Amino acid sequence: MNLLLMGLPGAGKGTQAEQIIEKYDIPHISTGDMFRAAIKEGTQLGKKAKEYMDAGELVPDEVTIGIVRERLSKEDCTKGFLLDGFPRTTAQAEVLDQILSETGKSIDHVLNINVAPEELMARLTGRRICRDCGSTYHLIFNPTKAEGECDKCSGELYQRADDNEETVGTRLKVNIDQQQPLLDYYREKGNLRDFEGSKPIDKVFQDIEVILNQATYSSKG
Ligand SMILES: [Zn+2]
Repeated sequence: MNLLLMGLPGAGKGTQAEQIIEKYDIPHISTGDMFRAAIKEGTQLGKKAKEYMDAGELVPDEVTIGIVRERLSKEDCTKGFLLDGFPRTTAQAEVLDQILSETGKSIDHVLNINVAPEELMARLTGRRICRDCGSTYHLIFNPTKAEGECDKCSGELYQRADDNEETVGTRLKVNIDQQQPLLDYYREKGNLRDFEGSKPIDKVFQDIEVILNQATYSSKG
């Protein structure tokens, strides 16, 4: 089962990815992990990627695509995989389709975890840190007993500069703009599956399971 996971920052992709790879026994292939592995193994492409990264430059598409191709050809991908963070553009999506078709494969499902931007904003700006002991809290997911006060040491809580509405808003907008053409691309191809990511984590996973289990039946004929 060849899967692609999509969703904006804060949509809960990481948690769903963990559950999917566990249940369906397929590797989680994130762009970051893939680059780190190629660099560590010292492959030609890994070396090239490292040169660009060390120079603070963007790794060009042909290098990234080469690394993806190498990774997908590994033994552990024969049963399938869960791609995460790649492709980022429709040009990359087209090349990915091409790479897969060379070995008679394709992406079966693009799992898109949808959460309204306003809710993502609340999730992503909710982190609070204690000035005195450094404990982290979250206004929604892990609130303190008394507002603005650390449970452990009664210290004052603050919000990191990266977590403010303006920074988070910019980051969300960049991601929304980047993701939209990809969603259109896969919707057009008919393999985009939308999930309501504002539901509790377990419910979202149940919805994903329904789709993935159906796919298993139909592929068995
Ligand atoms: Zn504290």
